[in-house]
Parts: sequence; structure tokens; C-alpha cells
Amino acid sequence: MQLSTPLKEITGNRFFASAAKALSKLGVLTVQDLLFYMPLRYLDFSKFSDISKIKAGEVVTIRAKIKTIGSRFSFKTKRSLSEAIVSDDTGSIKVTWFNQGYLAKSLKQGQELLLSGKVEQYKGLQMINPVHELVTLENIHTGRIVPVYRVTEGLYHRTIRNLVNSSLPAAMQLKDALPDFIQKDKGLLSLTEAIENIHFPRNEEKLEEAKRRFIFEEVFVQQLAVAKHRLILRKQAAPAIPQNISLIKTFLGTLPFELTVSQKKALWDIVQDLEKPLPMNRLLEGDVGSGKTIVAQIAALETSLNGYQVAIIAPTEILAQQHFENFCSSLKQYKDKIKVGLLTSSFHLIDQEETSKQFMLSSIKVGAVNIIIGTHALLQSNVHFKKLGLIVVDEQHRFGVKQRALLQKNTREGKNTAPHLLSMSATPIPRTLALSLYGDLNISTLKEMPKGRQKVTSQLVAENQRAGAYTFIQKELTKGRQVFIVTPRVEDSEEQTLKSAKKEFKRLSEEIFPESKLGLLYGSMKGVDKEKIMSAFYAGEIDILVSTSVIEIGIDVPNATVMLIEGSENFGLAQLHQLRGRVGRGQGKSYCLLFTDSQDEKALQRLNEFCEIHDGFTLAEMDLKQRGFGSLFGTEQTGFKFKFSQYLNIKILESAKKPAEQLITQDPELKTYPLLKKQVGPLLEQIHLE
Ligand code: ADP
Ligand code: MG
Repeated sequence: MQLSTPLKEITGNRFFASAAKALSKLGVLTVQDLLFYMPLRYLDFSKFSDISKIKAGEVVTIRAKIKTIGSRFSFKTKRSLSEAIVSDDTGSIKVTWFNQGYLAKSLKQGQELLLSGKVEQYKGLQMINPVHELVTLENIHTGRIVPVYRVTEGLYHRTIRNLVNSSLPAAMQLKDALPDFIQKDKGLLSLTEAIENIHFPRNEEKLEEAKRRFIFEEVFVQQLAVAKHRLILRKQAAPAIPQNISLIKTFLGTLPFELTVSQKKALWDIVQDLEKPLPMNRLLEGDVGSGKTIVAQIAALETSLNGYQVAIIAPTEILAQQHFENFCSSLKQYKDKIKVGLLTSSFHLIDQEETSKQFMLSSIKVGAVNIIIGTHALLQSNVHFKKLGLIVVDEQHRFGVKQRALLQKNTREGKNTAPHLLSMSATPIPRTLALSLYGDLNISTLKEMPKGRQKVTSQLVAENQRAGAYTFIQKELTKGRQVFIVTPRVEDSEEQTLKSAKKEFKRLSEEIFPESKLGLLYGSMKGVDKEKIMSAFYAGEIDILVSTSVIEIGIDVPNATVMLIEGSENFGLAQLHQLRGRVGRGQGKSYCLLFTDSQDEKALQRLNEFCEIHDGFTLAEMDLKQRGFGSLFGTEQTGFKFKFSQYLNIKILESAKKPAEQLITQDPELKTYPLLKKQVGPLLEQIHLE
């Protein structure tokens, strides 16, 4: 068996052929693909129990002989079921397999079995539908830590486990990308051993080591790309935009407000960066409403008055339009010198005048438009700039990093010239994390809100206070206010008791707020349907919006005063904070109600702290410390996709940083490490603008 052997050529089990077919639909075609098809989770069936000691409600593994086995037809389910009595030295227990009458034929009296599953109390103790396996030298379905893979139609847990087990010998042939000296230094498993243990862990420690090895490799490769990128950036020049204090002062004088202290600081950081003949690489972080736009506007003003173009990219058409109107009105006084354009799939405007796409593109090319605001339409290869000096990316995590690299490529004046880059984000990426993740990215943070913003009163609500909370909400509705209700899930599930958006929507509409108009919103809805609901809520046609946590970015409904979060202990603090930020944006006093029926003291303490703390960054740091990286936000929001992100932590990031930098300094082209080079290449494409 070779790594390149197609799965469909593997025989030995009558179910393998259909499994290979199902796997091919997931892109898993060869033995090598399968070895890297990682388990989703594990079942710990490694600890054996004596039958005499097991209790109802426990998940146990027993080793027992079949005393009797038979099948009968169940009139209730209209299917046959198998029933057995099994025993060990300490006692015996009944086992029932529903819908699996055939088992009574394949299993024989006297055979020794491993059985793993839940013990139920039903006419005495019983195991219902346990996983079974004949005792062999190396069991793979029971009696150990058992891998659970993602299955789809035609793919069964047992079969895929058998298939992986049959393919495992080929792991010997895998070529390890991680240099030996790093593995030794960091005490990491070899690739072969890591693959063996990620699928069939010898024990819990080995499983942890296997995970650590994989996340280390991912992070190491990412850090190589960061280090390499730094080398490239250092060799590139950018247009130096001399600072123009009097221009900035004059402009600020026209604003109806004064900048906050951190806006001034951020502006100062940016103005100084722009002045250097090196590409700026800065992230401007700040909560929703902290006033990032005006800072970017001033940077754009300076750059464009210096004869360079500015590209501003927004994640949605609505946001691009808002920016455009905002820019046009605040830069009115420079109308003769600065032309502002809007380029999206449906708009081609230059200073409020409609033009054709063709005209738009040629105006950008000859430099007749100075500030161009748009969506991803700006990233298309037919958009060429004459002299691009600055790229501003709003809500940066919403963009594929790759797309941003594309823009930079298409707009570079010369091979070694790069525009300055300012990304803006409302996702509070903790400083410690951002620094390890992005290397020499510079960060400016808007810490405080503009004056006059009110704090959202946050409160924990126990189950027995639910009715009171609804009465309170009814009062707000009567005042004409609007309400968000967020649930942890879209649909109900059998495993968990968490509230789902769909069911809550129905219950609330019918039983609790029959007089109000409710809307339902969740992530997997079609884009147009989402927009419809959103604009109806925005227009006040919907009173209560029931949704999952995926509430679109940029939604600004000043009339909404209540954010009710169900099962709030299931959310990260940073995420809760973003949800809370959806209210308190207008005149009305606003409330964030955190529902929980958790009894866990730690969880309750976390939530209580949340009610007191109103700073997103502090909360994100707390999340990071308490729950690790995975809980913070989707790693996609950081611009990187880690396959093993749930195992990521700052310590691993930091331990990979130094050796990565050393390796790149010694061998910038990674000539000695072709396998690493192959992995770093595509990342470098993506990373370019971080
Ligand atoms: P975000 O950081 O979410 O992008 P915006 O830039 O959209 O926030 O700013 C939100 C609102 O606050 C805008 O209406 C803006 O004009 C206003 N604003 C920005 N800075 C200040 C300030 N220093 N004082 C008062 N209002 C401000
Ligand atoms: Mg904004």
C-alpha cells in the first residue's frame, strides 16, 4: 500500500467500497488523504468496569461473554431488535440493540465482547445500543480511546475506523516537514507517530502530544510566513506622505466634535507611518461606534492631497455606500481637488454622479478619481490604479486575506513599491495574540467611546426570573422600542437542551409576544433573505429579531434597547460584548439581559464579571486566559485558518516564533526545506497584507 493508493483499491471489508465513494465526495481520495482526515472528537472507552459496579446513567466499557442472544420483532418500531445477556466474573447484564436484528445472527453464544455505551434503567439495568467488538489483540471500536470522524451518507463510524486502521501502516512512508532539530528541541512526536496517535491514541498523553505536534507544525509554518513576509516588506518602498499639520487642524476644525484621546493617538501613529518611505502595516482596532472612520478619513485626505490614490474596501454594499456618503459630505470643502468614487457591483458613482463601469475603471486608471470606495468589486483584476498610496480595509476579518493580496498585486506601481495599509476591525484581538500572530503588525487601539455614549446596563437573569424579564421587554415594546433575542443554536438538537432560534421564534410569537411582529435570522439563510429581514428590522417593521449570534456586522438600529441572550454561558465574553454593542446606540436607555440556567460557579462568575466590564479588549484577554484561543472568535476572523485551532494557545505561538525567525534568517528561500517551502508558499500569498 502506497500513500498515493486510491482508497477504492483497498479491500478487506465489504463496506470499504461505499465508504471510499462517500469519502471521495469530501475530497478524500488516497491513503494519504485519509491519514490526514482527522477525527472530530474521541470517545474514551479505555477504562473497563466490572458489571457488578456499573450504575444507571454511566457510560461504561465492559468485557463480557455472551450467555444468550436472540432477536425479536418490535411492533412499536416495526423493526427487529437483538437482545443478549452478557456476563463477566462479577455479574451479568442485559443488552438491547434496536433496529439491529441481524446482530443476533453474527454474534454467537460464548463469544467474548467489548461493549461500550450508556447504562439505562429499564426493567433493571440495561445497555442500549452499545458499540460492540469481539476481543482481539488490538481493538479499535471499544476498549480504548476511540476516534469519531465526520460521517456523511454512506459512511459509517465503524467502516471509516476500519478503513483508517487498514491504511495506518502507510504512515511509515510519510515525509516529515519539520526539521529534526526542531522536533528534538521542542520534544515533538514524529509525523508518523503523530498520525498514528491522532487516529488511535495509545493513551491520553499520546493524544495530547499528537495534537501538540500538529498545531505546532501549523503555527510554525504560519510564523515562517510571517518572518518571510517581514523580509519582503523591509525591501519594499512606499510613497512617503509628508505630514501636514495645518491641513489636519483645519479639517478637524470643521467637525462638530472633538476627537477622543485615542483617536488623536491613532491618527498621530498613522501620520507618522505614512511619512516613512516604508509600507505602513497597521491595524486600527476599536469597538463598534468608537469612531474609526474619521481617523481613516484624515489619512485618506492627506494621502490624496499628496497626489496618491486611496482605496477603501468595505465588506458589504450597504457599508460601502455609507462610507461613500460620509466621505463625500465631510470632504466637501476639497471638492475641487479630491474626487470620491463608489465602485460596487451595482453602483458606479463619482462625486454623486452616476457613470458607467467603463468610465469608472478608466478614471481610476488615469488617476482622475482620488478616493475609491468599494466592495470586493475593487479587488477584480480589471481595476488598475495609477498611483495607489493607501489601502484602507474596513472590518478586515470579513475579507479573505488572499483577496487583499490580490488588490495589492494589481495596484503596485513597481515591483518593489507597495501602498500603505490600514486595516480596521471591531473584533478585539488581544494585543498579546495579535503580536504573536502577525509579527510586526502595528496596532492602534481606540479605547474609549466618543463622549455622550451610554453604558448598557447588563444583568444576569435566572430561569425563575424569566417571566419578569418578558414583562420588562413588553414595556419597552409598548414604548416603541425594538429587541434582539439571541440563542446559542439554530435548530433543536437531541444531545443538548440549548434553546434554538427556530423554536424560540415560534414560542415567542405564539405564546409570549403575540401582539408583536417577530423576525427570524440565522447564518445559513440566503443572503437576500437576510437582507430583507435586516432592512425590515432597521425600518422598524419588525419589533423583535430572534437570531443566532451571527448578526451582521454594521447593523445599526438606534431604536433597539434590549439585547436578550439565551444560554449566555455558551458564548465567549468577547462575543457577548459584540452582541451587547448592538444596543445602546440611540437615545433610549439600553439593557443586556443574560439568561442562564447554569449552576457552574465559574461560568456564573465569568458572566457576573462581564456585567461589570464594558471594555471589549479586557474581555477578550479574559477569554483568552480562561478558555483559550478557540473560544475567542472564529480563527477566520484573524485572517488565518488553522485546522487545529482548538488546540492553539499563546504558548505554542510563542514557542514557534523564534525558531521560525532563525530558520528564515539562515535560509530565506527555504532551499534546504522544500517540504516547508511548499506549505509556506500559499500562506505567504494570503498573509501579504497582514
Ligand atoms: P466605527 O468605529 O464603528 O466605524 P464610526 O466611525 O462609524 O464608528 O463612528 C460612529 C459615529 O461616531 C459616527 O457618527 C461618527 O461621526 C461619530 N464620532 C466619531 N468620532 C467622534 C467623536 N470624537 N465624538 C463624537 N462623535 C464621534
Ligand atoms: Mg465602521
